Parts: sequence; C-alpha cells; structure tokens
Amino acid sequence: MSGNESRLQAISKITNRESLGLTPPGKLEDLWAVDVFSLSKMQASLPKNVFKSLKKTIQSGETIDPSIADVVAIAMKDWAISKGALYYAHVFYPLTNATAEKHDGFISVQSDGSVISEFVGKLLVQGEPDGSSFPNGGIRSTFEARGYTAWDVTSPAYIMETDNGATLCIPTVFVSWTGEALDKKTPLLRSNAAMNKAATKVLKLLGNTEVAPVNSSCGAEQEYFLIDANFANSRPDLLLAGRTLFGKAAAKGQQFDDHYFGAIPERVQLFMQEIEERAYRLGIPAKTRHNEVAPGQFEIAPFFEAANVATDHQQLLMTLLRITAKKHGFVCLLHEKPFKGINGSGKHVNWSVGNATQGNLLDPGDTPHSNAQFLVFCGAVIRGVHLYGSLLRAVIATASNDHRLGANEAPPAIMSVYLGSQLEDVFEQISQGAVTGSKVKDMMNIGVDTLPLLPKDPGDRNRTSPFAFTGNRFEFRAVGSGQSVAGPLVAMNTILADSLNWMAEALESELAKGTELNAAIHLVLKEVMDEHGAIVFNGNGYSEEWHKLAAERGLPNLRTAADALPVLKQPHIIELFEKMGVLSPVELASRFETYTEQYILSIEVEAKLVVSMAKTIIYPTAVTYLTRLSGAIASLKEIGVELTTETVEKVAGLVKSMMDSVSKLDMALHNHDFASHEEHLQYSAKTIRPMMDNVREFADALEGEVADELWTLPTYQEMLFIK
Ligand code: ADP
Ligand code: MG
Repeated sequence: MSGNESRLQAISKITNRESLGLTPPGKLEDLWAVDVFSLSKMQASLPKNVFKSLKKTIQSGETIDPSIADVVAIAMKDWAISKGALYYAHVFYPLTNATAEKHDGFISVQSDGSVISEFVGKLLVQGEPDGSSFPNGGIRSTFEARGYTAWDVTSPAYIMETDNGATLCIPTVFVSWTGEALDKKTPLLRSNAAMNKAATKVLKLLGNTEVAPVNSSCGAEQEYFLIDANFANSRPDLLLAGRTLFGKAAAKGQQFDDHYFGAIPERVQLFMQEIEERAYRLGIPAKTRHNEVAPGQFEIAPFFEAANVATDHQQLLMTLLRITAKKHGFVCLLHEKPFKGINGSGKHVNWSVGNATQGNLLDPGDTPHSNAQFLVFCGAVIRGVHLYGSLLRAVIATASNDHRLGANEAPPAIMSVYLGSQLEDVFEQISQGAVTGSKVKDMMNIGVDTLPLLPKDPGDRNRTSPFAFTGNRFEFRAVGSGQSVAGPLVAMNTILADSLNWMAEALESELAKGTELNAAIHLVLKEVMDEHGAIVFNGNGYSEEWHKLAAERGLPNLRTAADALPVLKQPHIIELFEKMGVLSPVELASRFETYTEQYILSIEVEAKLVVSMAKTIIYPTAVTYLTRLSGAIASLKEIGVELTTETVEKVAGLVKSMMDSVSKLDMALHNHDFASHEEHLQYSAKTIRPMMDNVREFADALEGEVADELWTLPTYQEMLFIK
C-alpha cells in the first residue's frame, strides 16, 4: 500500500461528502435568546418584588439579596427542565483560556427512596467543584484544594445543547476559600469596578451632576481556520498542538488575495449558518462573517456588548465553533498560526467605556462639552498605554501568539497608539499651547472653549498598529485568536482606572488654584502629551524605521512571550494592580507562574512532537524513497543505463541533517536544570524553538523531494484548498 493511502482516502471522502443542504435560515425573532434565562423570562416567572431586587443587582452590580436566591433558583430550574435540561453546571473560566464546567443533576433522593428534581438558592449561588487540578500558580496546595464558584448575576444563565443533551449553564466566578481569584472573570469584574469609580470621579469634576454606573464594552472579532477533519485527524501536530509543525508551503498561498472577502464556499456557509443560529439562541449578537486573507481562514464578529457578558459570550463562541465544526466534518483551528507562510489568526478586541447618562465616553460627540470629555478619556488611555504598554504586551503573551506578532500580518510587539491624523493633530495643538485653529477641514475651532470640535469619523485606518483609535473605541489588535479576551480587558480597564484617577487629581489641584475648568483640562491634557506623547505613532508599524524610532523613544520591544511575561513581576505592575484593587500581589504572582508554566509546557509538547514525527513518520518515508531510488539506479545500471545520483545524494543529505537536528533537540529537551522561571522561559524561546525550526527546515525540504505517493502527512495544498 502506498504511503499516501490515508490522504487519498481523505480526499475521496471529502469529494463524495453529501451536502447537508442549505436550508433557509431561521427568523431572528424566533431564535433570539430563546435559550437564555433573560430579564424578560425572569420577569415573567418571578414575583414582582423578587424580580425588582434581582434587576437592581444586575444593573448596579450590588450584592444579591440572599433571601431571593431560593425563589430565583426554582424559577430557573423549572425553565431549564421545560427546555429538556436534567443537569445544571456552574461555568467558570480558569487561567487556561478554556471554559470549565462541572455538571450536577437536579435529582434529589428522598428519605423514602423516591426522587424529585431539586435546585435551591444555595446551589445556584455557590458551588464547590473540586477544581484542584486547574493551574493556579501555587495559590492552593492540593490538601486545601477547596475552590468555590459563585454566581455572576450580571451574566445570564443559558441552556447549552450538545450531543449529550441540554444543560443549564450558570456563569460564575472561581475563587479559593481564602478569597483569591483563581479565574479570569473575577479580575474582570474588579477592573470594571475600579474603572467605574475613577470614571465617575472624573465625570463629576467635568460638571456632570447625574452620572450612571460606567461600564466597559467589548466587541471581539474572531478569526479561525476550517480544515477537513479527515486531514486534521491524520496529522498528529494538528491533533495535539493545534498547528502544523511541518509542512511545505503550497505553490499557491494567499498572494492573489482571492480568498479575502470572496464568496463563502457552500460547506462553510452551512457551518456559519448553524453557528449563527446557535449564537442567536444563546443571545450572542453574531453580526459579521467573511472569508479572511489566508485560504481556509474565516472571521466571525458579534456586535459589541458589556465587557463581562461579551467575554462569556466569546468563550461560548469558541466552544460553538469547535463543536459545530465537528458536526460539519471540519476541525476549527483557533491557534494563532496553524500554517507557516500564510497569515495567522488574531482576535481584535474593540473596547470602549460608557454609561447611560453620558453615553460612549470615547465618542467625540458634537458639543464642546462632550468633546472636552472625550479628550480627557482619550488622553487617559494615551497616558495608560505609555506607562503600562509592557503590561498590554504581557497579557497577549502566549507560545502560540509568538508566531504571529511581528510577522508581516499582525502588529509588532512594540506597543503604540494610533490616533489617526486628525485626532493626532488636535493633541499636537494641545501640547503646543492654545488650540488656535485646525488645519483639518470640517473641524471648527471654538475659541473660548480652547478645545476644537472634533470630526466624527477619523476616516483613515492603520492595520499595522497594535492599539488603534477607530472613531468611537480603541481596537487592541495584538490579541491572539485562541485567547480569552478577559486578560486584555482587565489590563485596559485597570490602566484606564489608574489614569483617570491621576486625571481627577490633576484636575482637582488645578481647580483648587482657581483655574477655569476648560483651561484646567487643557493644562492636564498638555501634560499628558508632554509626558506620554511618545506612545502615539501613526506610521507603518511594520517598518524598520519604526523599530529604530521606538527604541529612541524608549518604548520596549518585547519580542517573545518569554521576554514579556516577566513584566508581571515588575514592581510598578504589582503596584498598579494592588492599588486598583484588581489583583493582589499573590494573585498576580500566581498568574505569572501559571502563564509561564503554560508557555514552557506548550513548547515542550511541540518539541517532543517534532522529535517523534521526524523519527517515526518523516524519516521512514524518506528512507523508503531512498531505498527505492537507489534500487532503481542500481538495476538500471545493470542494463547499461546511467541515472544521475544527484537526488539520492540530496535526499540522503537532508535525512542526515534532519536526524542530526532531531538528536540535538532531543538532547536539549533533557535539560531540566534552571535557576529561575525566567531562565527556563528564555531557554524555551531561544534554544528549543530554533532547534525545532531547524528540524522543520530539513523535513520540509524533504517533502519537496520525496515521491508524493509515499508522503503520509496531508499537505498544505490539500488541507488549505480542498473543501
Ligand atoms: P473591522 O473594520 O475592524 O473589521 P468589524 O466591523 O468587523 O470591524 O468589527 C468591529 C467590532 O467593534 C464589532 O464587534 C463592533 O460591534 C465593535 N464595536 C463598535 N462600537 C464599539 C464600542 N463602542 N465598544 C466596543 N466595541 C465596539
Ligand atoms: Mg478589526
């Protein structure tokens, strides 16, 4: 049997696959949030006073009145059972980027042996999963493993349907019995509270008498690859690492730009339609879908929501993508760089802050007052990114995102802020003194206020910036496709809270001196630009000049996660999180440890795979080919035909070089002697990784030489172009 039998079988299976058939999509109003225990469902099923109290908790973030928990639990259970659920689960978000859930039945056995379905307030409000196996960076040792989940009232419960049936899912925080956050949701809620407090202070100083709670919002654009499962399942690297560790580029890649925004293939369209229907049922406002730049790459972007809910929905969406892909015979790859040589996947996190009384605080608005307010908030972001850019770099630092950042498709590892030329011009004028006018058309100078009227749409876009202002929000583009958006949102909320506190203090001290409000705003903004203007960059983030300029401006360039993760140990970062009440030093330290461990482990797993795939798959194939080829040359020689030995020698040379590199890598993996986490991180990034690349170089060259019928691994061409 020839080596590529499994490839041929896969191709034949895909070619003969029966279409699931396009059906007209369901009506939005019939689908929308039917599987969510929404406010309207609560209102319909709860006594008036209970509903009122619960609604207040949801909208203001106050603690829930324990006396109503029982009533809510019964209503929730009855609703869930009416939807076919027999189990409920406290869903939580450990430090792994995954979603975790422990299922419990509603069943309760009575003293007479009969059973009833039961769900009481206590079970709704608090759970105790034995979560001792989740990485927690040493906060809990196993002998005191108790971790609690606690209901997050602000994120609605929902029914999740899988092949195993329906389950009532309750979003929760996950904390240790000593109260430390073991998850990604707790700090997000805390960061939002800190930002709310600081923003409220500033808004009051700006003369607003009525200020509703300020919340952060998030709209995340999710990129992903779809690969036929028949191919993915015959690649150990895709199965275990989520990316190809070997593979020669196909003759055609993305150079024609013929995939981007092209017609969506029918099979993919069916998949997307199902994802959207499922998303709608779960109250996830899926809005945009399109092909992405690379072949086999797509994007889904829901409409933005409150950051906490958007984060839960984002996790849910990643789960939906994975399980729905399976049903359609695909594997959905959320890895940041599944294929070498073509674009990887990111997750742009669009972020803003706002409230019910002042609206979106990062929207320029059309009165001098709202513009002043906008400039204050925008200035606070600029200051924050300048002071804590390295933190933004650290929260996107993963082994997989390392492959993407700084490649010619994703923002560089240097953090900077893109404002667009018009807004940059305004800040430029502020820092030069009074705003005397504007070079930019459509912008008016409103003399007495000293602050200009701002354009509504900044117009231009810059795809090379990691952190861009896009008209009424910032877009953090360096976030990885497989990541939870919680970490980036925590960082953004926290640095904004810190900056707004600073703004409030600076404004207060100016006002105390008798400075008029608009002049005080101007002075404070000027100080921001003088001290922190270096972070603003409107040019090409990919260019060599920027790398030089950034260094001159003192902006850090933390190339790998190994360089970026230790930022979490820096005193000013520890102080920031502690001061804002978002993460205690212990909690932050546990995150450093956990993320470091994950980085090291994922590179180790990949390196081991490189060794085993090279030895057991590629080497045998190459040797079979060599034997065949040399045999043919020898027999031909007997009948007097001389064939050149060039190919044999080349293949033999590549095989030898590959196996030498494999031995080196194998040896290097036996080193377990490191003085510190930092040293181990560096070893993984700067010693192991290049050695893996070395092996790959020879293996990929072999793929270009060895007879195709012997090659067993599905090729780039097959995986990316056969659907
Ligand atoms: P792009 O041009 O970057 O591809 P998309 O339209 O695909 O833009 O995505 C933009 C995302 O930004 C959407 O999720 C959208 O809902 C979100 N967004 C819009 N306004 C805000 C806001 N004020 N806060 C947060 N996200 C927002
Ligand atoms: Mg975008």
